[in-house]
Amino acid sequence: METVQLNNGITAPILGFGTYRISPRVTAKYVTEAIKAGYRLFDTAQYYQNEAQVGEAINNSGIPRDQFFLTTKARTGGYAATKRSIEKSLRVAHQDYFDLMLVHFPMPDYMGTYQALEEAYQEGKLRAIGVSNFDNRDMQRIIDHFDVLPAVNQIETNVYTQDKSLTQFMKQYGIIQEAYAPLGEGPNPMFSDPVLVQLAQKHHKSVAQIMLKFLVQSGFMTIPGSTNPQHIRENIDLFDFTLTLAEMEELRGLDRGTSSWLGYQG
Ligand code: NAD
Repeated sequence: METVQLNNGITAPILGFGTYRISPRVTAKYVTEAIKAGYRLFDTAQYYQNEAQVGEAINNSGIPRDQFFLTTKARTGGYAATKRSIEKSLRVAHQDYFDLMLVHFPMPDYMGTYQALEEAYQEGKLRAIGVSNFDNRDMQRIIDHFDVLPAVNQIETNVYTQDKSLTQFMKQYGIIQEAYAPLGEGPNPMFSDPVLVQLAQKHHKSVAQIMLKFLVQSGFMTIPGSTNPQHIRENIDLFDFTLTLAEMEELRGLDRGTSSWLGYQG
């Protein structure tokens, strides 16, 4: 598995498994399936209500905890509520620490939320902290105000949704872009895009693998989700081929700017 180095010096796998919309009833089962397929980075959130089951699958895997990279996200607004919610997340997931915790949205009082994360980072309960769904302006406020830079901004990123100016902004500070909805959230017109279909045929890979490889090769942490065992294996099988510079350029050209092509608000 390839890794990325975060701006505080720690490393993370570049590809992981997302658990949004996976019911708590079956989360441990699919996380276990993903562990067997080789995933070590797992993405959960307070909002997903499956932190407990992700933690359970990791703790029961028989693989040392330090081989995993576990991310969760705070949905609480403000300092005091977030102090409490960090403790609760650690408790329900049966973890001594999270590898990464993000402010899930730029909700009211996200500065207070970040302050609570920064303190937990300084106390060793979080190995890295960051944000999600933040634009340049919100990130700049955090950067100007706090000692600890966000290590990651997790944002919607796929072949059709590339916010190149945000990517440029983050590069200045060494903030890693983490791509959510890397497949555009499942069946959608991107899967029949002629450029993607042709590249899949050329490289003997699936269209989904071309979509994911484009993100990984761009240096983005990438966290596809699936409850289909074949797709779970397929989505990590990306490290035996390379897209050429010209192919990467062609894929950058498919950007449609926003996720309006999907018919939902990103
Ligand atoms: P995704 O782009 O990963 O799409 C997942 C869907 O794609 C699956 O449900 C399935 O329908 C389909 N799929 C998966 N593998 C496939 C394959 N190989 N071939 C064909 N179809 C396939 O979207 P997502 O699950 O919404 O996003 C991934 C992860 O990102 C989430 O699980 C979550 O962890 C994170 N996320 C974060 C935020 C945020 O606000 N920070 C928002 C959305 C998602």
